[in-house]
Amino acid sequence: NTLKIQELEKLSLIGELAAGVAHEIRNPLTSVTGFAQMIKELSNDKTIDSYIEIVLTELNRINAIVNEFIFIAKPKENMKTRETDIKALVSHVVEFMKPQATLNGVHLIESIHFDQTLTIQCDPNQITQVLMNLIQNAIEATTDPSIQEIVISLKNRHSDSFLIEITDKGSGISQERQKRLFEPFYTTKEKGTGLGLMMCKRIIENHNGTIEINSQLGEGTTVKINLPMVFDHQQLQG
Ligand code: ADP
Ligand code: MG
Repeated sequence: NTLKIQELEKLSLIGELAAGVAHEIRNPLTSVTGFAQMIKELSNDKTIDSYIEIVLTELNRINAIVNEFIFIAKPKENMKTRETDIKALVSHVVEFMKPQATLNGVHLIESIHFDQTLTIQCDPNQITQVLMNLIQNAIEATTDPSIQEIVISLKNRHSDSFLIEITDKGSGISQERQKRLFEPFYTTKEKGTGLGLMMCKRIIENHNGTIEINSQLGEGTTVKINLPMVFDHQQLQG
């Protein structure tokens, strides 16, 4: 399969670039971000405040791209698994993304379909990255101001696995484009990297999970993540 070979070549090239460049960029980036935040705190000038806000937003964007490259270079080596309360993690991500959703006139709705605590074995940082990316995509796809809801739901389907779904009523994706979503650099956005979904897929697969996208052009998109629990706290107690 020629496409697969091309993808692999692209991947190893990205890997090499990422390993070298992303780490070099990370330290100065952290330092610049820190100083920009200090300027923000010290300033009481409206013009400077508004400029620094833009600087911080753009720095966040660079940071997100650098992280995508670092994950793609060494997703497995970077995995740090621990017991994680997945309901708390989902809530945390939703809260974190709310300001950005609000800026775009979108509501994030959390929908949790079970009461008991769900402790799973995962890398919480990586799963957070995945959810942030998917919610970001959903926000970016929801441009119609009359449609304002993105639902993030957590469903306990089986005793050994569970489902996270992110549903938007945004632009949707044509059949033709759906085939290409996980390809590196596939983007339809002016400022997109086309690495987000590929990174999500790698992370979920490293957790022995699956990710699936159902979409209808003009109707919206649902991303389904199925993750194994590996370790269920409830079972120990019960
Ligand atoms: P990026 O967001 O940088 O473009 P991604 O890998 O995250 O890269 O997404 C690739 C492409 O998939 C996007 O450019 C967009 O065309 C499409 N896409 C992803 N999520 C959605 C969604 N929820 N609704 C519509 N299109 C989407
Ligand atoms: Mg994206």
